[in-house]
Amino acid sequence: MNRGLFMHGMIGKILRVNLSNSKTSTFSSEPYFEHYLGGRGIASRIYWEEVPPEVKPFDPENKLIFVNGPLVGTGAQAATIMAVVGKSPCAFPESYCYGFFAGYVGTELKKAGYDGIVVEGCASEPVYILIDDSKVEIRKASSMWGKSTYSTAEIIQKEHGESAKYITIGVSGEKKVRTSIALASYESTLSCGFAAVMGSKNLKAIVIKGSGTISVADPDKLKELTRYSYDISKRVHLAIPPQILHSGHGHLLEVVGKGNCFKCGSTCIRNVYRYGKRDDLVAMRRCQSMEYYLPWFYGKDDEPIETLFYEPVLANDYAIESFELENMVRWLYACHKAGCLTDKETGLPLSKIGTMEFLKKWLHSIAYREGFGDILAEGLVRAKEKVSSKCQALLSPLIAPIGRHDLAPSRAIVAHALIYPMEPRIHQPLIHQIGFVKGAWGLNRSQPSLSPVSTKVFHKIAKAFWGSEEAGDLSSYEGKSLAAIKIQNRVYLHDSLGLCNFTWPIDYSFNTPNHVGDPELEGKLYSAVTGLDAGKLGEYSKNIVNLQRAILVREGRKIPEADYPPEFNFIEPLGADPHGRPVTVPGSDEEVVIATGKVIDRNKFTNLLKEYYHLRGWNPETGLPYERL
Ligand code: SF4
Repeated sequence: MNRGLFMHGMIGKILRVNLSNSKTSTFSSEPYFEHYLGGRGIASRIYWEEVPPEVKPFDPENKLIFVNGPLVGTGAQAATIMAVVGKSPCAFPESYCYGFFAGYVGTELKKAGYDGIVVEGCASEPVYILIDDSKVEIRKASSMWGKSTYSTAEIIQKEHGESAKYITIGVSGEKKVRTSIALASYESTLSCGFAAVMGSKNLKAIVIKGSGTISVADPDKLKELTRYSYDISKRVHLAIPPQILHSGHGHLLEVVGKGNCFKCGSTCIRNVYRYGKRDDLVAMRRCQSMEYYLPWFYGKDDEPIETLFYEPVLANDYAIESFELENMVRWLYACHKAGCLTDKETGLPLSKIGTMEFLKKWLHSIAYREGFGDILAEGLVRAKEKVSSKCQALLSPLIAPIGRHDLAPSRAIVAHALIYPMEPRIHQPLIHQIGFVKGAWGLNRSQPSLSPVSTKVFHKIAKAFWGSEEAGDLSSYEGKSLAAIKIQNRVYLHDSLGLCNFTWPIDYSFNTPNHVGDPELEGKLYSAVTGLDAGKLGEYSKNIVNLQRAILVREGRKIPEADYPPEFNFIEPLGADPHGRPVTVPGSDEEVVIATGKVIDRNKFTNLLKEYYHLRGWNPETGLPYERL
């Protein structure tokens, strides 16, 4: 079924659901596409027009804006990402933010006939939205309210069939836990506290059933490019998440199958795993939620393997963001050891951190906001204000409202000093760009046969993807403004086209003659899908970057102060890596630089920032775009 096409790849319609008056309507996505492409770009533009700065996250006037990009669901490799934009209760201070669902929901929404959904208002009782192609209903959710995510999913699939795709919140979302997550089909999750925003609207779930198709301008070309992208995307395969390997218990996990998102053949950590060689402990797992609670980090060597197996299940079922949980458990452990938090005052068995008993009580207390859990439910950056100064002092400066600073430290990778502060959240796709290539470079140095990224290749990649060979000398300040811009532009495009950052960009490869990937490939896919010239992609990224800048400034961002990285970067020398070894990065030519011990030079950073404003075409004094939106 063709859905009234205005261009290939897009459907042309966005669904609006007003929960206050139970009205649904649609509007055209075409005018938004003209300047903002799709996904994060279009969602941010709708936010700019419809969510005034004074609106608070839990006001009915806040909106949740879900939008797909033109590549989602077309069969292009790893084109699965649906953006969600709204005012986030998790951001600090509360502000505009963006998150993403991978998996299947974005594709299903397109197949149902919509590029996106705008959810606004507040229902008078718990409801869920049912989208069954053109039929849209707001239904009572009394049988789901108070239920965990997996229990709700079961109710949904019993009622609407196994093939129905869903987005649901858990009890934590209902209780407006700021760090709650929404869970979607095939274990996809959404952070930024948008689940709490759903809860504030009395919206328990969105169920989607779509039977349409997504039009592609040149299907043969798309197939050819997709084959080519699979070919050249053969890269270093990290099957087991890094922290589990570091814990010395990597042998307890084996990959026994794939857990990919819609039509994605890429290799990532989303897999089916078997735990401890036990056939009763086999399940699909994804990314970082596998790692937030590793018993062996807390000296519980005799803890059964089940604790590791159920850790991600419980995080998803209680629906709490696992980066936050990882930061939190480390802090609770440190406070308990230092004697500034006790079992008695928290009501939590802190002496049993690392056990299943602690895990369950801890997550339950947050999700239900019980006792000390009510403080933790505000998120660590806000909980800080409610604990003793001794406990405050034990909080790591790396803690961020969403995610964690310094995953790939700015003191080692200078371009990141510009990239981190520009966002309302830690956005890992930005950090992955250099981070993944640097990881492959590190592997090449220790085991050359496992990675093609020598220092020479690293510099060639820098030239092709980050603007200059100088950008490949990671700890110098030369070429880093341009590198930051190139990386941001590319990621904003991915987020707006719908491309997953575990595959894109294909920057290095085992299967190209010089081991450099293809920087033009996203543009080629865009043209095959839409039939349009990829030359406009540069303008799109500029528009979306400027738009986000304007939104953040309108909501109170202070420039230039907020563009500086956190103070510890300037005063505390970078430490060793997790194995206690010096951190090394590629320097110029064949040089290897030891970054351990480095801080960011404040004057050099200030000059870098000025250069960044200049290259962006922003006012050098105000740091603002000249153009009106
Ligand atoms: S690379 Fe992994 S997370 Fe990304 S779309 Fe493919 S399966 Fe999903």
